Amino acid sequence: MLESIQDRERIIFRACSLCGSDNSNCPPGIYSQVPWIIKSCSKCGFTYMENVPTYPMLESQFAWEKTSLEENHKRLKSCPLLKRMSGVIKQFRRRILKRDKIGKWVKHYIQPGNILDVGCGTGHVLENLPENYHPYGIEISKNLAKLSRERVERRGGIIVHANAIDGITSFSQEFFSGILLSSFLEHESDPGKLLRTLYPVLRKDAGIIIKVPNYSSWNRKFRGSNWCGFRYPDHVNYFTPHTLNKLVQDCGYRIGRFNFIDYFPLSDNMWMLIQK
Ligand SMILES: [Zn+2]
Repeated sequence: MLESIQDRERIIFRACSLCGSDNSNCPPGIYSQVPWIIKSCSKCGFTYMENVPTYPMLESQFAWEKTSLEENHKRLKSCPLLKRMSGVIKQFRRRILKRDKIGKWVKHYIQPGNILDVGCGTGHVLENLPENYHPYGIEISKNLAKLSRERVERRGGIIVHANAIDGITSFSQEFFSGILLSSFLEHESDPGKLLRTLYPVLRKDAGIIIKVPNYSSWNRKFRGSNWCGFRYPDHVNYFTPHTLNKLVQDCGYRIGRFNFIDYFPLSDNMWMLIQK
């Protein structure tokens, strides 16, 4: 993955993304996987990747469609039965049960109007929203931005090819009635800056829907380094209910919804609604 010495020098070494403490003198944690270093902050306990690819590296070299494919191959090799079973369960939920939690939360908590999907991937979420939501997306991967553009522009939407923090500057104040951070905050090397940048583009009555892997899930405790939430180097922040709560409140948001069922430890993910 890191093809040369220059690549190794280009990655960023960062402090704790929750409290800003420098943990460079602390040893790598047990979930590190060469060359990626996972640490638990000595001050606040937050678990994060210390060395992360830069935004330009995420456009192509470490683009999600490449890294996730490699990770899936790796898992298929190490736990073939488990990987296949989880794929079948996912398809069953999506195709047979027609579960669309994000769509359900959008209809329930977000007023019709402009809606932004940060890290919109192939654009499938935006494409499937009801007609009274006008879709916008930001995507850092060159290939995925192209794919989502084809899907979303058909219904009058706009896709910005940029990293999330720069991409937000394309929009005016109070432009959005809702923002989706679905499977995104765990990828962002500066999640606090991102949340603060999103604040002004939200309408007063707007909400942000967050979905992230739950580092406190029982599955992570049981499966350890084989937990599906570990993705190298894609996932750079490992939130627990406590650290997610702290991050959003430090950034000035209030919690609209975060019930026990939303961070139920039997699930690998947790969901939260935050508001201005
Ligand atoms: Zn910290």
